[in-house]
Amino acid sequence: MNIEAGSEKKQVYFKNLKFYIHTFGCQMNENDSERIGGILAQEGAQKSNSLENSNLIIVNTCAVRQKSEEKLFSFLGRLTRIKKRKNLIIGIVGCVAQLHRAQLLEKNSGVDFVLGPDNYSDLNQVILKHFGEKFMATRWSREWKEIPSEHILRKSDISAFVTIMEGCNNFCSYCIVPFTRGREKFRPFSNIIKEVRDLADNGYKEIQFLGQNVNSYGDASSGKDFSALLREVNSIPGIEWIRFITSHPTNFTQDIALAMKEGEKICPQLHLPLQSGSSSVLRRMNRGYTRDEYLEKIKLLRDLMPGISLSTDIIVGFPGETEKEFQDTLKILEEVRYTNIFSFRYSPRPLTAASRMRDDVPFEVKKRRLIEVQELQKSIQLEKNESMVGRVIKVLCLGKSKKNPQVFSGRNEGFQVVNFKSPKDLTGEFAPVLITSCGPHSLQGEKANNY
Ligand code: SF4
Repeated sequence: MNIEAGSEKKQVYFKNLKFYIHTFGCQMNENDSERIGGILAQEGAQKSNSLENSNLIIVNTCAVRQKSEEKLFSFLGRLTRIKKRKNLIIGIVGCVAQLHRAQLLEKNSGVDFVLGPDNYSDLNQVILKHFGEKFMATRWSREWKEIPSEHILRKSDISAFVTIMEGCNNFCSYCIVPFTRGREKFRPFSNIIKEVRDLADNGYKEIQFLGQNVNSYGDASSGKDFSALLREVNSIPGIEWIRFITSHPTNFTQDIALAMKEGEKICPQLHLPLQSGSSSVLRRMNRGYTRDEYLEKIKLLRDLMPGISLSTDIIVGFPGETEKEFQDTLKILEEVRYTNIFSFRYSPRPLTAASRMRDDVPFEVKKRRLIEVQELQKSIQLEKNESMVGRVIKVLCLGKSKKNPQVFSGRNEGFQVVNFKSPKDLTGEFAPVLITSCGPHSLQGEKANNY
């Protein structure tokens, strides 16, 4: 059945929708969910905070690792059981939707619609057009599809994600993203600036630029690149901290590093995915840089910003990874001494070049290597954090800690979690915090009177 856009029936339809969005994956997906929520809310649908009280459930999916896909399918089983009890629409969006669209829509799956990452802006139209039918919209677009930022339903009113590009042209041999998100598309420069200005006017203190590879940003009509974007937002009054993720080492230029150093609002913090400390593994991964080239970038960053906080991604057990190649990863962790890392066991993803290589590192070896990486990194983090005890640092307070509502929680410039006591609620404010103790994953302290 087709409900006509603009009709009374349409208004009633959306007014009766109570939607719940469950998000798997990274910050890009978090921001996509905020944008999808805004698209629905714009037509009168209401956001719900529980599965049970909703009649539209959207699952925003991640295909980067096999594990996240497995989690989705077990979550879907739960939704299908709820659907047997009540009238419910289930929509699957995001990378798994793009990848497994036909399987997800199978007759008895309980899924009503499937939407790929390039189709969110059409959500309301396709819901109306296909009312009561199973449908999919998974066409890629070569052009950027703008979702007006005023319709974004943000989770935080202090720190905001701002997506500046989508897709990837790099084709790292293990990565599924170019097959699910398509090729790079860049958001118009003026739209990004407008969104940041609006956020500043609405009292946001921090923004985080998002994209699969933000360093390759380029706006064809204005000729502005990523460093120009950083310089421009640095001059917008109101926003006090600027971050960005993710950076590809190959596209991370000296000019971007200089823009970071010169921009007093740009946090001295960078996530620069390494993946492996071995040049031969990096070649098989098609990463486009060697171990030494990566280390040169780290040197450049530390020469310009000695206190910079660095984090990275590590994959262990990539096809053919020898013990010697793995040891090179441990050595680079000791050399760079990251503030934080995200580490994973390799798992083959469909369509990728690596999925055609022999996945020959036994599971037990992958498991042991992951533990070694994580143990080493834990000791590095603990040492680094201990060196901060006794110092007073600037923290953006994001609210009460979820684990312990007696304390407040926030982040420092280095993007570390800081839990602290304060006699006053400082949510949304910057505060000086004296660090009194720490663990490997967070810092603890108390509000100080000054820096
Ligand atoms: S740079 Fe590589 S790892 Fe990152 S999204 Fe692109 S293909 Fe995937």
